[in-house]
Amino acid sequence: DAAAPLGANAVAELEALATRHLVQPWESLEHLGQEARTLLTGAEGVYVRDARGNRLIDGPAGMWCMQVGYGRRAIAEAMAEQAMSMAYNSPWYSTSPVAAELAARIAEMTPGDLDHVFFTTGGSTAVDSALRFVQFFNNYLGRPEKKIILSRGGAYHGSTYLSASCSGKERDKVYLDFAKDLVVHLSAPNPYRRPEGMSVEGFCDFLIEEMEAKILELGPERVAAFIAEPILASGGVLMPPPGYHRRAQALCRKYDILTISDEVVTAFGRLGHWFASEAVFGITPDIVTFAKGVTSGYVPLGGFAISRAVVEQVAGPENKGSVYSNGYTYSGHPVSCAAALANIRIIEQEGLLEHVREIAPYFQARLRELEALPLVGEVRGLGLMACVDCVADKQSKNPLALDKEVGGRIDAHCQELGLVVRPIYNMCVMSPPLIIEKPEIDRLVEILRQGIERTQDDLEREGLWRR
Ligand code: PLP
Repeated sequence: DAAAPLGANAVAELEALATRHLVQPWESLEHLGQEARTLLTGAEGVYVRDARGNRLIDGPAGMWCMQVGYGRRAIAEAMAEQAMSMAYNSPWYSTSPVAAELAARIAEMTPGDLDHVFFTTGGSTAVDSALRFVQFFNNYLGRPEKKIILSRGGAYHGSTYLSASCSGKERDKVYLDFAKDLVVHLSAPNPYRRPEGMSVEGFCDFLIEEMEAKILELGPERVAAFIAEPILASGGVLMPPPGYHRRAQALCRKYDILTISDEVVTAFGRLGHWFASEAVFGITPDIVTFAKGVTSGYVPLGGFAISRAVVEQVAGPENKGSVYSNGYTYSGHPVSCAAALANIRIIEQEGLLEHVREIAPYFQARLRELEALPLVGEVRGLGLMACVDCVADKQSKNPLALDKEVGGRIDAHCQELGLVVRPIYNMCVMSPPLIIEKPEIDRLVEILRQGIERTQDDLEREGLWRR
């Protein structure tokens, strides 16, 4: 039984192997070899189980990806069947029934005429491939100077060179190199930390005016694309002011700039729809990227869907030699596509999009109660994604005096109490599996409350914070 607790010796041994040999994402090399991350050995539904046998609610649904929850036999069987019938086919010279079917399903789900789908291996490669399509597009059309990508502060778009260059989290940018000549960052659309004295509507005007001024300063003929998460996810679930996306898209249309909606987190039900760009924000981008929820995290897959009108400009017999020379050995991997199709069937059969639309207001309202705690500056979110933003004091909204360890401290307490939190510096992100029900939401909120209260007590005792 994979979920049975391991003995103390086995746990110690595995943790030693991990600390000695495993390098994990965002590894702190300062602390390399000192401490292993939580060893998880099983999972079911909305719960994960640690090596000591404790059951924890998976607050972040893995990494915003476990839409239908753990332990879905239908997905495992679809993968096993595909692995036995044809484990792999080269997308360079063949295709598979599942890749064809999945592309067609995704084309149906995306807004507008976004009916061409390119598969990748995850979110970073989806963003990277979308951006490289844009480069290809403009180079092919004879305007190689149209190269600059507009992105925003607080954005996260991935960990390839180009997608990471679009990310706007300054603390991640200290020791790595980035394509600085290709990417220009605009202000983070963070209404909570908007300039003092500015209304939310005024802040929206400010962001749009800043964007237009930047386009004009750079020269529209040099600006190729605007990439934006509908809600900035790992930037702290930042929700742009109402109307922002529509106005940003109008600017892009005005200056012939392609829009890329990075829906790696927001697609496949997180906001109660297959894709959120049109259904929630009223925009039809030229490209949407997806990953994570497309397979509910059972196996890696990502991709982008692109507008027929855009593709047609560089396709067809009159465009001799037009080749988009970008792709992966595992583009459209049949086992991943089979998992995605099974995942989509579950979402449909169980009405999970409707379920999210129904339960999200309860989830949001319950979490908002935490704003009464002195350490909590704001709780924000939409659908089944939310963020608890901790501050030194509610007036200054300054997170920096507390900083990095606060989220980690809350997470440590919550894990003892039975909840995994996704700490990001001073913030705790919650994005549970879409199948979550009210009693589990109640439990999640109760544990999070206790975790924050215990952290408040610790900080006060250590003289690091006063209520
Ligand atoms: N885009 C967004 C909005 C993301 O949140 C992420 C990952 O969290 C990525 C892209 C990168 O995806 P992946 O980690 O699958 O490469």
